[in-house]
Amino acid sequence: MKPSTGGNPAPGTKTLWSELLPYEFKQRLAQCPVVYLPLGLCEPHGQVSAFGLDTIKAEWLCHQAAWQAGGIVAPSMGYHIHESGYHAGWLEENVGKENPHMTAVPPAVFLSFFLYQLRAFVNAGFQAVVVITGHSGGNQEDLRQAADRFMAYIPVKVWVRSDPELVQGMYTGDHAGKYELSQLMYIRPDLVDMKARGWENVPLSGGRLALGSDADEASPELGKEIMEACVQRLCAEVNHIQAALTPVEQPKIPYSLIEKIRGEVLRGSSSWVTARPWPGQKQVSPYSQWKPYEYYE
Ligand SMILES: [Zn+2]
Repeated sequence: MKPSTGGNPAPGTKTLWSELLPYEFKQRLAQCPVVYLPLGLCEPHGQVSAFGLDTIKAEWLCHQAAWQAGGIVAPSMGYHIHESGYHAGWLEENVGKENPHMTAVPPAVFLSFFLYQLRAFVNAGFQAVVVITGHSGGNQEDLRQAADRFMAYIPVKVWVRSDPELVQGMYTGDHAGKYELSQLMYIRPDLVDMKARGWENVPLSGGRLALGSDADEASPELGKEIMEACVQRLCAEVNHIQAALTPVEQPKIPYSLIEKIRGEVLRGSSSWVTARPWPGQKQVSPYSQWKPYEYYE
């Protein structure tokens, strides 16, 4: 597999929805009616890494899969659920009093927008949606819950996975540690600077900023193995999804139907994993900047 840092591997193989001309879109859609949605956000990954690691790796995986297995890559979503529920305790522990400079949104806002993204995909003619989230740790469960409600009304396939789930049993995901930094070292070496570790000891610089304890073990070689394994799994799933599709003309989805589904999703908020701490997770201290988000109603 040819690693890419964003360009296209060969002429005539554009995969980004935003770059396609109408006839190119129709051609790709007819060949493979699968759309990819890369999800991530800006959040700290230590002093050594770019904020957008999660989004960048999700985009890379979707581009690679579209080149190899077909389909079209939708515009990325660079805002994601953070702060709320279990994230609050995690932030207190890993970021403390610092400003994490994040692009976080609350679960209800994110899931509402997600349902409208799914609507846009179906209305544009896609029959299957592959959602890859580079930000994981539990939030993908809530996405799947919303996707399930959507699929109860609309007969399309919505498949949601975080990247560590693609390589479950082979590699273990982490936050800004050996796993994640290796991924970025491979796909965007220009966005990792291990020399920036010096900033951890400079006052007011933010300290470790959620850097994983095994970050020094990261390498582009490991990143290549992880990313190629992710792509392999992803392509296998897309081939499987495509083989199982029975072409049907979907009626356009009106706002009113999404509002009905959204109401059901929001009424299920008590079961969202991003709405509360994990069982047994340490309570956030009363004066922490993250305390207000610990229990999301
Ligand atoms: Zn990450």
